[in-house]
Amino acid sequence: MSNTERTFIAVKPDGVQRALFPEVLRRFSQKGFKLVGIKLTFAKEELLREHYSDLQSKPFFPSLLSYMMSGPVLATVWEGKDVVKQGRALLGATNPLQSAPGTIRGDFALDMGRNIIHGSDSVESAEKEIALWFKKDELVSYKSEMYGWIYE
Ligand code: UDP
Ligand code: MG
Repeated sequence: MSNTERTFIAVKPDGVQRALFPEVLRRFSQKGFKLVGIKLTFAKEELLREHYSDLQSKPFFPSLLSYMMSGPVLATVWEGKDVVKQGRALLGATNPLQSAPGTIRGDFALDMGRNIIHGSDSVESAEKEIALWFKKDELVSYKSEMYGWIYE
């Protein structure tokens, strides 16, 4: 399994406003993942339509877009073994009422439309989302000094 798999994780506007982003950064870092991109940004409607293109026909799509534009989003890219699937596990289920305690949504959210965080659901969508949110030169390549203590 590759140590260079990447995923896109975004702290949504409610997570930023509620100051939950340090908790997100802490959980992903302490699990052993390497941060390779980060920026605080207002998402444009056009970007969000592309980001959530699979949900276009859903009744909650308009409210999802206004939720995602209600404040700045902390966009991040993480690298490491199985990071897409592991990242989804750290997030918990989409509906916070069904997210297990110990997960980010399970510990900090109640409503689906205020579930504080996004994570790519497959390696393919991670690639699409990273390219959508980040320019190539905004992603950083560096050797993590903790890798020898994380990977055998
Ligand atoms: N969402 C919602 N109502 C729903 C389903 C989803 O408001 O019935 C929102 C929720 O914020 C979710 C986002 O739309 O995180 C994207 O939905 P998806 O099914 O992709 O869930 P995710 O991948 O974020 O867990
Ligand atoms: Mg999704």
